[in-house]
Parts: sequence; C-alpha cells; structure tokens
Amino acid sequence: MSLSSEPSAEQWAAAVAAVRSAGPDDEVQLICHVNPDGDALGSMLGFGLGLRRLGFTRLRATFPGEFVVPDPYAALPGSDLLVPEAEAFDDPRLILVFDVASESRLGGLAGLLTAAPCSVVLDHHASNTGFGMVRLVDPRAAATSVVAEQLLARLGVPLDQEIAECLYVALATDTGSFKFDMTTAAVHELAARLIATGIRPGEISRRVFDSRPFGAMKLTGEVLGRAVLEPGAAGGRGMVWTYATLADLERHAQPPYVLDTLIDPVRSVADADVSVVVKQVAAGEWSVSLRSKGAVDVSGVAVAQGGGGHRLAAGFTGYGEVGEVVDGVRRLLDAFLN
Ligand code: AMP
Ligand code: MN
Ligand code: MN
Repeated sequence: MSLSSEPSAEQWAAAVAAVRSAGPDDEVQLICHVNPDGDALGSMLGFGLGLRRLGFTRLRATFPGEFVVPDPYAALPGSDLLVPEAEAFDDPRLILVFDVASESRLGGLAGLLTAAPCSVVLDHHASNTGFGMVRLVDPRAAATSVVAEQLLARLGVPLDQEIAECLYVALATDTGSFKFDMTTAAVHELAARLIATGIRPGEISRRVFDSRPFGAMKLTGEVLGRAVLEPGAAGGRGMVWTYATLADLERHAQPPYVLDTLIDPVRSVADADVSVVVKQVAAGEWSVSLRSKGAVDVSGVAVAQGGGGHRLAAGFTGYGEVGEVVDGVRRLLDAFLN
C-alpha cells in the first residue's frame, strides 16, 4: 500500500474513540520501532505522558530487540514508562504504535499487536504497509510526533514542558534540525508552540545532536575514511557509500547507535545524489541506510529489499557480504533509473 493523503475525519474519530474506550485502569501498551530514533522514542513517550495526564495509570512503553536507549535520548521525559520487550503487558486492552513503517520493524512484538482487542498506529511513512486496526498514517507529516500532537489535541491534552520536549526532540531529529524538505510552515508553527511551553532548544540540541564520546568520533573518522565514490552509479547521478562492522564498533568500544548519524556526513557529498551506509548487525546481516538528494526515490530500493522509508530517506536489512549488499543497491538503482 502506498499512501498519499492525511488521515480522514473518520480515522481521527476512530483513534479518539479507541483511546477513550480504555479506562484509566486498563493496561495500555505503547510500542515504537526496533533501534529507536528520536522520533520513535519522542513521539511514543510524549504521547505516553499525554495519556498519563488523562488519568491512565497502567502505561508501559517498549521497543523490540535489545533494550538500549541511545544516550542522546536517555534523559527524555517519560523514560520511566520504558520497559524491555520481555516486560511488555501480555494482554493489553489497547496498543499504540509509533513510527513503525512495517510489522517487520516490530520484531517479536508483532504478535502482541495482532492479538490485541484494539490498536492504533501513528506513523508518517509513505511505505506504511497498513497494519493495525486504526491507522493514523500521514505521509506528509515531517515526523510521527506531528501526528501524535494532533491526536493529543483531539483528546484535549494540553501541551506541557515534558510532553513538548519529547515531541520537539522527535520533530528536530526527523527534520534534520529543521533542514529537510518536510520542514513546512506548519512544522515551524508546531515547533513554536512546543518552545512556548518553556523548553530550551539550545540545551536540547546540545544533548541530542552535539554530544558524543571521543571513541565515536574516532570511529566515524575511520568509517568515513573508507568511503567510496562511484560517479557512474545511479544512472550517472552518483553514489557514495561506506560501511562499518561490529569489529569497528568493538575496536572503539562503541554501541551500534553511534552509527545512526553517520549517514549525515556521507549524504553531504556533493558529487553523488545517492548515499549509502551499510552497518553490520550480525554475521552476514546489515542495516542499510539510503538517502537521495532528490533525483532518486530510494524508498523504492528499500521496499524492493524488504525495507521501507520515505522518498529521500529509507532503509532495509541486507544479507551476505558488504559487497553483495552494495551490489544489490547498485543494481536496483540502475533498474529504477533505466
Ligand atoms: P535510517 O537510515 O535508519 O535513518 O532510516 C531511514 C528511514 O527508513 C526511516 O524512516 C526508517 O523508518 C526507514 N527504515 C530504515 N530501515 C528500515 C527497515 N528495515 N524497514 C523499514 N523501514 C526502514
Ligand atoms: Mn524512526
Ligand atoms: Mn519518523
């Protein structure tokens, strides 16, 4: 399924009804995607705090896989809601899902969603596969937190500093600090309303974007040093790529999430439209980040490989040797452009 429009009035009403159908003592489980980023955690925790303001008392928030919250997000308000996947409610009354493009991004929690009596999916990926009972998927939203804020408003939850900080981190990370194409006037208006609660954007940005261990900087230097530029790839628009292995992480004693922002310096290379970072997850398994400056729809490549994302920012899980993974991307780019 590919979506092009925002949620309908019926879908908003169904989402409000779904939340209101649960009582304050009902178990409500919030879930975001594996290897959570700022939007996944920020929209989930911001919404969770909103539910707390509505009187809900039994709230848990989680994500599949290893229970590691990246340092930049460790101090987010509402972090006390977070539990490891194994401690999710067994049989929640309501499940809310944030920033998840496909069920594959729910890992072992996908079954919980299928079994739940009621589920609401908040997302902004055009590639969203259409799972869950009530779907608030707005591919024009710059972040899932935009959708989350709209649902909170419809539920009558006013913004406070804690909710605002979560939603602001989500908005700032998914727009690349208000730089990407999705950064509309409405995005800045939302940011203004969030800042008006009294949050400190400078302090938040330093914590989220401008703070990393020395080892992470050294690792970045090495990985960028081995980048390859292929001017003829992507139908002559050019591709630049690099990779990082688990051994690289180990050598610098760094956790995998420090590689999440590595795509940014790579995608800034002016000689290539497409940028690719291939990050080892396990033996023969790689998490692949794709970006385009505009000439190529990289979500098509990602979807063809079982992943998803947006037109200019997408990803998938690749298998085999790193060279084989990059070959696959190269071939798909050629196929899409010829
Ligand atoms: P990343 O390169 O990890 O920052 O991801 C870029 C975009 O692609 C995000 O919107 C992700 O949600 C999406 N994405 C990344 N990996 C996958 C995947 N394996 N399956 C579906 N979507 C993905
Ligand atoms: Mn995300
Ligand atoms: Mn997002």
